Amino acid sequence: MKSLRDLELKGKRVLMRVDFNVPTDKENNILDDTKITAALPTIKYVLAHRGKLILMSHLGRPGGKKNGKYSLDKVAAHLSSLLSLPVIKMDDCIGEEVQQAVQKLQEGQVLLLENVRYYEGEEKNDPGFSRQLAALGEIFINDAFGTAHRAHSSTSGIADFLPTYAGFLMENEVAMLRKALGEGEKPRMAILGGAKVADKLGLIRNLLDKMDIILIGGGMANTFLKAQNKNVGKSLCEDNLLDEARSIIQAAQDKKVRLVLPQDVVVADAISADARAEIVDVDGVGSDKMVLDIGPKTIEAYLELINEARTVVWNGPLGVFEYDQFAQGTRAITQALAASSATTVIGGGDTSVIVHDLGLEEGITHISTGGGATLEFLEGIELPGVAVCEH
Ligand code: AMP
Repeated sequence: MKSLRDLELKGKRVLMRVDFNVPTDKENNILDDTKITAALPTIKYVLAHRGKLILMSHLGRPGGKKNGKYSLDKVAAHLSSLLSLPVIKMDDCIGEEVQQAVQKLQEGQVLLLENVRYYEGEEKNDPGFSRQLAALGEIFINDAFGTAHRAHSSTSGIADFLPTYAGFLMENEVAMLRKALGEGEKPRMAILGGAKVADKLGLIRNLLDKMDIILIGGGMANTFLKAQNKNVGKSLCEDNLLDEARSIIQAAQDKKVRLVLPQDVVVADAISADARAEIVDVDGVGSDKMVLDIGPKTIEAYLELINEARTVVWNGPLGVFEYDQFAQGTRAITQALAASSATTVIGGGDTSVIVHDLGLEEGITHISTGGGATLEFLEGIELPGVAVCEH
C-alpha cells in the first residue's frame, strides 16, 4: 500500500476520507466515538507534519439531500475536544465558500466538510462530484476502512484526480486482515458464528482455501447439523442450503481443513430471558426445541483447538448472546482468545461489541473497525477503497 509516511506533507492541502459514521441519538449526540478515535493517529500525524488537513465523511443515509439531521456539527465539536484544537466546520462539502475556506487554511489547521452524502453524486460515484471534491486537496488519503467496500466519490472516484495514499487505520486493518487470511503463522483457524449461512457463504468458501481449522457455532451451525441428518427441532435453520452445507463439508474434507461442528448444545422452547435452558447432545434435540448456544463439551473442544492455533480470525456470536443463558459459548471463546498468545483478529460487527462488553480488548491482537467492509475483505473481495491506495 502507498503509505503517507513516504510523503512530504508540509504546506500541502491534504484531503482525507475518514469514517465518522458514528451511532447517534435523535438529537444527533454521539453514542460511541470509536470511529473518531480510530482516525486520530493519521489526523495527528498530518497536523504534526504541518499539512493543511481537510476531512470528509458521511453520516447516516441522508439520501443525496441536505438534511440537518445528518449534520457533522457534533462530530466536529467532539473532534475538536479530542484534539484540543479548533476544527473549522463547513456547512457544505463543495462550492465557493468551501473553496475559499480551504484556500485560507494554514499549516497544522484542520477543517471538516459537511456530510458528503448530502449530494447524490457521492453514492453514484459521479466523476463530476469526485472532481469537485478532489479540487479541494493536493493529496488524497483514504483512512475510511469502514466504508472501503463502497465505490463512492469520496472513497474511490476521487483517486482518479489526486495522488492517493492509505492512512494508518486503513494500513493496519489491511495488514491485520491479510495476516488472518494467509500471511499469519499456521495453524490458522477461523471461528464462524452468527445467524445465517446465507450471509456467510462467500466467507466460508474463501476461508476453506486459507484455514487449517474452521469452528462453526451460532445459528449457522444448525444448518450444518441438519445437513448431517441431526434433528434441530424449531431452530433457525436454512433448509434451502442443506445441499450447500453438505458441499462445504465435502470441500473441507477434500482440502484437508478440519471443519468442526458442535457436539452438544443449549436448547430452549423460546428465545427469551426467562426461557429454561437445557444442555443436550446434538443427537438429542427435541422436535419442539431451539438450539441457541454451544454446550460445555463443545466449548471445551473448541478451547483445546484454540490453544493449538497460531492465528485466529473470528466473526459472529456462537449463540443468542443477547440473553445470559445463551451467552456462555460466546463468552468462553472471547476469554480464550483474549488469553491466547496467537495472533487474534476479531472481524467487526456484533463480535467486537461482545469483546468490548467483556472489557477484553487488551488481549485481542486486532479488533476490526469495519462491519460490511471486514466481511467482504475476509470473503476475498477486492474493496474499492483499498484498491485505490495500492495502484
Ligand atoms: P450475524 O449478524 O450473522 O453475525 O448474527 C448475529 C445474530 O445471530 C445475533 O443476534 C445472535 O442472537 C444470532 N444467533 C446466534 N446464534 C443463534 C442461534 N443458535 N439461533 C438463532 N440466532 C442466533
